[in-house]
Amino acid sequence: MAAAATSGSLRAMTVDQYVVAQRDRLLEELLAYLRIPSVSTDPGHATDVRAAAEFSAAALARLGFDAQIHDTPGHPVVVAHGPALPGAPRVLIYGHYDVQPVEPLELWDADPFEPTLSDTTITARGASDDKGQIYAHVKGVEALLAVHGALPVNLTFVIEGEEEIGSPNLSAFVAEHAERLAADVVVISDGAMVAPGIPTITYGLRGLTYVTVRVRAAGRDLHSGAYGGGVPNALDALARLLAGLKDEHGRVQVPGFYDDVSALSDAERAAMARVPFDEAAFRADAGVSATPGEAGYSLVERIWARPTLDVNGLSGGFQGEGAKTVIAAEAMAKVSCRLVPDQDPQDVFAKLRAHLQASATEGVSVEVRAEGLAPAAMTPLDAPSVAAARAALLQVWGREPVFARSGGSIPIVAEFQRLLGAEPLLIGFGQEDDRAHAPNERFAVHDYLQGVRVSAALLQALARPRAGAPQGP
Ligand SMILES: [Zn+2]
Repeated sequence: MAAAATSGSLRAMTVDQYVVAQRDRLLEELLAYLRIPSVSTDPGHATDVRAAAEFSAAALARLGFDAQIHDTPGHPVVVAHGPALPGAPRVLIYGHYDVQPVEPLELWDADPFEPTLSDTTITARGASDDKGQIYAHVKGVEALLAVHGALPVNLTFVIEGEEEIGSPNLSAFVAEHAERLAADVVVISDGAMVAPGIPTITYGLRGLTYVTVRVRAAGRDLHSGAYGGGVPNALDALARLLAGLKDEHGRVQVPGFYDDVSALSDAERAAMARVPFDEAAFRADAGVSATPGEAGYSLVERIWARPTLDVNGLSGGFQGEGAKTVIAAEAMAKVSCRLVPDQDPQDVFAKLRAHLQASATEGVSVEVRAEGLAPAAMTPLDAPSVAAARAALLQVWGREPVFARSGGSIPIVAEFQRLLGAEPLLIGFGQEDDRAHAPNERFAVHDYLQGVRVSAALLQALARPRAGAPQGP
């Protein structure tokens, strides 16, 4: 174990002193992890992806964990169990060792897999998403072992290699190993704080219903001179359908769409109003001049906590240069809804399909196919794990954390809830502008080291008695 390897003289130290003393090595190890080009989408990198799995497993084995590399039909999953502590809380830390592709390479200032380290910043593919954040947890465990000699909880790491390609094999893997992976809390650090220096607990993720809509109006494209005025037009029909999906106040018009939407409490709305959210920066970043949306809700509420409906793609008819007088026989649209608790993605799909088919104009058929369904996920704010996270973040950052929701979806979070009965605890160590998935991805050195401290503090806080703790927000 690292505790033994790093000698008894460290036992008098605090975690903070340990992190300061070991700073250079903690960084060097992360740089070695970042040098592995574990691009999961590229079959040419399959051996690199496995090398990153082996690096992850070895790092945990050195801490005394029982670390195994499990093969799946795709890339392997690393599972590592710490020593059993009967009666203590069961904590699972989830992350991923795979990374996004690096193209376009010419937009990088340096080789994405030859990390550059300045006084303040680590720049490399995977620095923030997610090697830096998961490795902060590994090193948080190391610090706890070095300082205290033992862990205070039953701890399991699950580090997968397919997150960036949609985790196609993880859900089945978790279901198959549910007994061994059962946990009270799943800790995930694969995101951002609301702003630098502002510790953040993300307690809600939106879900998703994604559909393809196909409209058919004729057996073939028809000449608009010979047939125009006498036949249905698939593009006209589709345009009408899509235009009718929302009203002028941004309300979705699918009957029953809002039936199961859990309303925002006054306390949540007050908390969201206090979030330091810069609307001008949001507009500038998006390159938009306005922020339209559902009437009656603030911008933060709309992007974090209200359901949406958006057209994501549209095609049909003549798309070439110049003119072609044609009436389209077929038209296609991609439509997605971001969902909130307690909307059921399958139910929303059924309602959307029924509404589109019932609204079709004369002589056209409408086919609606589901492409992706994922439920929203919520951590109850009165969960003991939230109180523990709040205490840990306050201890390390010296200020109260902000409670945020995210408009995005991480389907595996709801799967962990469903399959393992675990409360999700999302604590991002990175920043929104870490350029995840983009050229010159980076991670602040301070955020990495704070992540190590937070991880250690969190495990200790989760081990404390679970009653009577303060609750937020
Ligand atoms: Zn990630």
